[in-house]
Amino acid sequence: MATEIPKNHKKRNDAILIAALLLAAGILFLATGAAKKDGAQVCVYVDGARAASYSLFENREIPLAYDGHNTLKIEAGAASVTDADCPDRLCVKQRAISKQGETIVCLPHRLIVKIEGGDAPDVDGVVR
Ligand SMILES: [Zn+2]
Repeated sequence: MATEIPKNHKKRNDAILIAALLLAAGILFLATGAAKKDGAQVCVYVDGARAASYSLFENREIPLAYDGHNTLKIEAGAASVTDADCPDRLCVKQRAISKQGETIVCLPHRLIVKIEGGDAPDVDGVVR
C-alpha cells in the first residue's frame, strides 16, 4: 500500500532527489546549448543568389514564389519544405534541417534553403 512507509524510505527519497537534480542539470545544459544557436538563420538562395533569410527560431510558414512555389516551414528550430509544385517534389521529401550548413535543395526551382550562422553540425562521435 502507498501508506506503508519502508524503513529505507528516506534514503530512497535522497536517491530520487539526486536523480532529479541530475536530470534538471541535464535539461539546463541542453537549454543553454540551444540558446547558443540564437543567431541561426534560414537562408533562401535562388539560382545561387541569396533571396531571403529568416530566423530559425520564429515559428512560421513562408510561401516562396520564385521559379515556382515552395512552402517553407520553420518550427521548433528546424526548417522544412512542406509543399511545392515542382515535378519531383524531392524538396518536400527532404528531412527538416536545423544545423549550420545543412540544406534542402529544390533542383527544378533552382532553390536552396540553407541554415547559416548557428552551431556547427553534431559530430555524432564520428572522427573526421
Ligand atoms: Zn522541389
